[in-house]
Amino acid sequence: MILYGKDIAEKIKGEVREKVKNLKEIPCLACIIVEGNPASEIYVAMKQKACADCGLNSKLVRLENNVSQHELEKVIENLNKNAQITAILLQLPLPKHLNEQSALEKISPEKDVDCLTSINLGRLFAGRSSFAPCTAYGIIRLLDENDIKIEGKNVCVVGRSLLVGKSVATLFEQRNATVTLCHSKSKNLQAITSQADILVSAVGKKQFITSNFVKDGAVVIDVGVCRCDGVIYGDLDFENLKDKCFYITPCVNGVGPLTVASLLSNTIFLAEQK
Ligand code: NAP
Repeated sequence: MILYGKDIAEKIKGEVREKVKNLKEIPCLACIIVEGNPASEIYVAMKQKACADCGLNSKLVRLENNVSQHELEKVIENLNKNAQITAILLQLPLPKHLNEQSALEKISPEKDVDCLTSINLGRLFAGRSSFAPCTAYGIIRLLDENDIKIEGKNVCVVGRSLLVGKSVATLFEQRNATVTLCHSKSKNLQAITSQADILVSAVGKKQFITSNFVKDGAVVIDVGVCRCDGVIYGDLDFENLKDKCFYITPCVNGVGPLTVASLLSNTIFLAEQK
């Protein structure tokens, strides 16, 4: 069965609309974009549209491609101080001359909507908070909403970024799955992934996961996005996998809409904490 994220994303957005009504102030999400990455422009526009759809305010802060680290961090510090701003999103990736980690750490943990500061990640990894990066939360929600059991399952996550792989692996472990986290230095990857009841691929390499990486009847989630000659591909060799899996997500309309919807629910979470 193909798992589309869109329906669950609509459900999350419905919850956001309801919660906005109960808040004293309308939350505002500030999106910082450093110019020069066409994909980032599309993502930020989608995020702003989603805010408007759900009754949230948003503010776009556009910086030139040659912005300095100091200028970028100054912008973040000003947004931290701005009482009108509930949440801050720094759209990644940044141009090569900028240090992403240093910039992310400047975001106040109270406004860190992507949960990428050391403080918020530390709380997540220590099991002291359910607040998580948007894609990781979206994946777990997708499984829960489709009654896919997690406890006791062998889960393999390929990719160990803080944004996706490591965060979703932590959420699976906290839900009592047995988790294997793989990366570019993993040996015999295929032997590991083909044991998994639930396989999540967050690599970003076109059709990297082929049929022999997957156990019959597995649940397979595609996070990867790769653009080749204007066409979007996922990590999965979808056509050759779809009849082998119990559930599979498509590259388009799979995890993507959940990431956007989870961003809105994370904004509400920060507003409620405030
Ligand atoms: P990232 O930081 O580049 O991480 C990629 C991971 O893949 C790394 O951990 C890397 O291992 C691993 N990897 C690379 N080659 C590998 C190989 N041959 N075998 C096994 N592992 C390998 O990227 P990210 O931010 O996690 O994002 C991953 C993908 O998901 C990207 O395509 C991104 O665009 C996409 N994404 C989609 C959504 C969505 O909503 N659909 C959201 C976020 C990200 P090392 O750590 O050893 O280098």
